[in-house]
Amino acid sequence: MNPDLHCHSTVSDGALEPEALAQRAADNGVTLWALTDHDELGGLARARAAAGRIGLAFVDGVEVSVSWANETVHIVGLGVDPGDQALGRGLAQVRSGRDTRAVEMGRQLEAVGIPGAYEGAMRYVSNPALVGRTHFARFLVEAGYCRNVADVFARFLAAGRPGFVPHVWARLDEAVGWIRGAGGIAIIAHPGRYRFDALERDAMIDAFIDAGGRGIEVVTGSHTPAQYLEYAEVARQRGLLASCGSDFHGDRESRIDLGGLPPLPAGLDPVWEALP
Ligand code: AMP
Ligand code: MN
Ligand code: MN
Ligand code: MN
Repeated sequence: MNPDLHCHSTVSDGALEPEALAQRAADNGVTLWALTDHDELGGLARARAAAGRIGLAFVDGVEVSVSWANETVHIVGLGVDPGDQALGRGLAQVRSGRDTRAVEMGRQLEAVGIPGAYEGAMRYVSNPALVGRTHFARFLVEAGYCRNVADVFARFLAAGRPGFVPHVWARLDEAVGWIRGAGGIAIIAHPGRYRFDALERDAMIDAFIDAGGRGIEVVTGSHTPAQYLEYAEVARQRGLLASCGSDFHGDRESRIDLGGLPPLPAGLDPVWEALP
């Protein structure tokens, strides 16, 4: 078993087309694959068709941007119906502010001496509704302002940096509700990445469970091996299903390749056993 249940295509901020991702997943030995583009279902039909041609088991997924207590939290939905109308409408609403935000990011970067960043970022965007920080990061690397994508985030795009524009995304309970309504399982993505203290983290997990959320990513490209164990314990204590996914975006941008994660720690309930 080698499930990889979190990654991105050109339909959001990944560098590969859904078909190329399917091939890479199969080549790397993935046995169950999900595409989870940010706030967007538009790549799922292509991904499913490509996976079918290769004989790779596929799960329809999405990663919804949520605002909770002044922090952006990502909620992955697995096993969603890509034709579900309420989910589609909800995601369209989440996407709607991205362009204005990107224009403002361009203005702020110009103010610190980087002209043309909005136009530059848009050259990396395949889906105009889905411009995000990664597209800006690719432009800043290409234009020689930074060595790599991680460096761009540290200097310009993380919270508090000059190109960071705060944004209000979906509410946690809404996002979980859309995923459940579309027949899917809601999962807290990369919990180790949020700037919460222990109380805030527990409160977020309480609100997530109250809304009907059922899973948490334990093994992800964003976690250290120590965090695999930390969040395995959180999953056991809170009775959450455990998920795993590389969060692969592209060569030279992602620490972990598709299919490159170790197995889940023992004694967990894997989310894939709960998928229909
Ligand atoms: P956005 O939805 O536009 O705020 O962009 C969020 C995306 O930025 C994430 O899904 C990652 O792909 C990327 N990202 C966020 N923080 C970092 C980081 N420190 N290094 C590299 N990529 C990051
Ligand atoms: Mn991303
Ligand atoms: Mn994420
Ligand atoms: Mn992701």
